[in-house]
Amino acid sequence: MKEERAKSLQIYNTLSRKKEDFKPLHPPLVGMYVCGPTVYSDIHLGNCRTFISFDLIYRYLLHLGYKVRYVRNITDAGHLEGDRDEGDDKFAKKARLEQLEPMEIVQKYTLGFHEVLSQFNTLPPSIEPTATGHILEQIEMIKKIMGEGLAYEVNGSVYFDVEKYSRERDYGELTNRKLEDLLEGTRALDGQDEKRSRLDFALWIKAKPETLMQWPSPWGRGFPGWHIECSAMSTKYLGTTFDIHGGGMDLQATHHTNEIAQSQACNHTKPVKYWVHTNMLTVNGARMSKSAGNGFLPRELFTGDHPLLERGYSPMTVRFFMAQSHYRSTLDFSNEALQAAEKGYNKLMESISTLDKIEPSATSSVNISELEERCYVAMNDDFNSPMLIAHLFDAVRLINSAKDKTETLTAEDLQELRQLMHTFVFEVLGLLDETKLSSGSEVIEGLMALILDIRKEARDNKEWSTSDKIRDRLQAAGVVIKDTKEGVEWRI
Ligand code: AMP
Ligand code: ZN
Repeated sequence: MKEERAKSLQIYNTLSRKKEDFKPLHPPLVGMYVCGPTVYSDIHLGNCRTFISFDLIYRYLLHLGYKVRYVRNITDAGHLEGDRDEGDDKFAKKARLEQLEPMEIVQKYTLGFHEVLSQFNTLPPSIEPTATGHILEQIEMIKKIMGEGLAYEVNGSVYFDVEKYSRERDYGELTNRKLEDLLEGTRALDGQDEKRSRLDFALWIKAKPETLMQWPSPWGRGFPGWHIECSAMSTKYLGTTFDIHGGGMDLQATHHTNEIAQSQACNHTKPVKYWVHTNMLTVNGARMSKSAGNGFLPRELFTGDHPLLERGYSPMTVRFFMAQSHYRSTLDFSNEALQAAEKGYNKLMESISTLDKIEPSATSSVNISELEERCYVAMNDDFNSPMLIAHLFDAVRLINSAKDKTETLTAEDLQELRQLMHTFVFEVLGLLDETKLSSGSEVIEGLMALILDIRKEARDNKEWSTSDKIRDRLQAAGVVIKDTKEGVEWRI
């Protein structure tokens, strides 16, 4: 583990509203939970920004030598239209519309989500649990919260009692708002409401006869509210207190605020040490969202097939474009910005190829270790990727000067520089060199031969979990392998 480097990592914590030294609960283990997608439709580029931001965080923690248990859930039940505790379930509505079984909707959009994220070269999480696979855990948690007197049942539905909880705890701590202000901003209850107070939220919702997805519970047939799934699954896989919890900023005020209340009510401890929130991708200043109709799908972005797009942009151009802004800043989409990102990305890739062609000199006119130090300082400052990229462009200038012989690099410098570019460009920023991405490329052929060799060894030794892992991870990365009489065939 790069202990000295890891010691100076600082992360901005939404809860304390400041940067804090990162001290994991059980080093080198880090528990990280990120709220995943609601899989009732294709994900748009805004959603991708959030998942790519967490991929950068995950990659850097791994690079520092932490063992990260990264849990990212799939919401496949309980997310209602309009985010209020009434109306139709998003999955049921879509299932009716497309005349499919709700689980077909879930499967279709989960596969689409994986495909998109692998095009952006994100690493898969360690565990990807689903809400429907954890109904029992959610019911158990609701029972415990009721046992604490902090939830009540009305006519087959169960609600969290926010005002009672607030007598001893600070319900608005994540957004730094007082209960009175929160009440102020919430719709008043009308005569139809089952809730006692307007901030109360559903833990369990009674099913109507026509509800497509429903389960038995101590309160009759129904389905879980949206927030309880993340409390139940994060507790199950990461424990009652874990290191990092993330998601987009839009989740702070309701979803994450309610998660804290549920977990705290059930487990009597603060669930999360560091709350990390990513900012929004905007289009002409407006948040990109499914409902606003300004959400490009990644495939539209790649082909350019959208009225707002002048042409298509490659996945790595888009990934580079995202890394050029800090995850806590908004990022506005424009064709000009993407074209500039494309130039920047190409320059970076070209300079890495140039590096292999530079002849070493006997003397050195530069200090690579100092450059490397600056890269670590940038990433240790709350994962400051734009600052990192600025330093990488100092490296690009240096490489070009060395090519023109206005700077001199020794063989050792060249080796250090290659290592630095490899670490920060490919491993940490998660970029790929798209010019080398075809199944005929020598590098890929060589890597595949190596991977398949390791798989063969694992199979010969009956280490099935390793050989299955290799097959699954290749598949997630877009490589399908097939065992034939002649040997193993593979294709991208
Ligand atoms: P959803 O599938 O709507 O639950 O969203 C999945 C994730 O994408 C959540 O963490 C959201 O906060 C995030 N998200 C939604 N819209 C945007 C956006 N315009 N920019 C960045 N992240 C977003
Ligand atoms: Zn969540």
